[in-house]
Formats: sequence, structure tokens, C-alpha cells
Amino acid sequence: MIVIIMGPPGSGKGTQAKCISEAHAFPHLSTGEMLRQEVSDNTPLGQEVAPFLRAGKLVPDELINRVMEHILKEESYRGVVLDGFPRTVVQAQQLSQTLQRLQLRLVLVVVLDVPEDVLVARLLRRAQQEGRSDDSPEPIRERMREYEMKTAPVIDYYRHASVRLQTIDGDAPIAEVTSRINVALEAAMAVTP
Ligand code: ADP
Repeated sequence: MIVIIMGPPGSGKGTQAKCISEAHAFPHLSTGEMLRQEVSDNTPLGQEVAPFLRAGKLVPDELINRVMEHILKEESYRGVVLDGFPRTVVQAQQLSQTLQRLQLRLVLVVVLDVPEDVLVARLLRRAQQEGRSDDSPEPIRERMREYEMKTAPVIDYYRHASVRLQTIDGDAPIAEVTSRINVALEAAMAVTP
């Protein structure tokens, strides 16, 4: 059973994906965290993706698709919360094929909706607390642009593919957003065993 958490940078995808994965006892897979780990371990993959991450650009589809296909196949997940993938229509198409091949069901796509001024404020605050290199003004602007141009169309892709999709107001306390997602997830699981 697959759940996808989508939303612009700063919308709380990572935080919510963790809460959902703990509550339902299946793993949380964050492509952003995974790529940052590769960078800090200075692996060949990390060296390849580092300039993209620093600039707030998406890494090439071909690269992330290859990595994700490998992970999904090798780990033979029964369930997983995907956070940060798919981020383009090409990635979504590939994921659909992979899930079909592995006979995994996409139960729900959650889209976190947060006003842009709130997003920017959250990211700048996080920059001070965590010091992520892409949380400074220019990379933040680039990530927002990438989201609008390349990731927002994924929402339409899922609408047209008749996948269950729920937009959740993410401008609320963390626990409140989690409980809204849980309501949507329970409803989705009730119709897709
Ligand atoms: P945020 O959503 O807050 O920008 P993430 O931690 O999800 O942060 O992602 C950080 C960076 O990792 C992105 O800006 C991008 O460079 C890279 N990345 C993560 N997932 C993908 C993906 N599916 N396709 C391309 N690049 C990705």
C-alpha cells in the first residue's frame, strides 16, 4: 500500500510523512533526505546530485527514476509513505509502471496546501535552526519555481489517472494536519483493501 505526500517546499511533507508512517507502521521514504545523506557521505551519487541540491533544482528524472526503481524493487515494500517522489510527470509515469509491475496499490495522494508567505517564513526559520544549504533565499525561490513548473502538474496527472487525491489545508498545527491526513487515509483504506 503506497501513500504519496506532495506539497511545495516547506509545506510539511517530511514531518507529516513521518507521523503517518509511524501511525501505520510502514516505512517513510524521503528522496530529499536520501539524497542529502548521499551528499554528506560523499558517494558517487552524492557528488553527482550535490550541485542540483545546492541550487534548489530538481535532479534529472532519469537519475532519480533509476534510484527509486531500484529501491522499490529491492526493498519489496508492503507499504510505504513516499515523500518527495514523484516530483515530475515523467517520474509519476514511471512510478505507475513500477507499482503495476510490483502489484503495489497507490491508495492515496495527499497534497498539502499552504499559502506562499507561510512557506517562505517556515523555510527561512528552518534555515536558522537546521542550516540546510538550500534553505537560503535564492535556492528557496528556485525550489518554489521548480514546484510550480514541474511538480504541480503531477496533481493533474493523478486527477486524470483517477487516483484518489486529497488536498489538505496544511496551515495548521502539526497534530491537526496529521489528524486531517489520517481521516483521509482511513477513508481511502476503507474502499481499497
Ligand atoms: P523540499 O520539498 O523542502 O524542497 P526535499 O527534502 O523534499 O525538500 O528535497 C530537497 C532536494 O532534493 C530538491 O530540491 C531536489 O534537488 C532533490 N530531490 C528530492 N526529490 C527529488 C525528485 N523526486 N526528483 C528530483 N529531485 C529531487
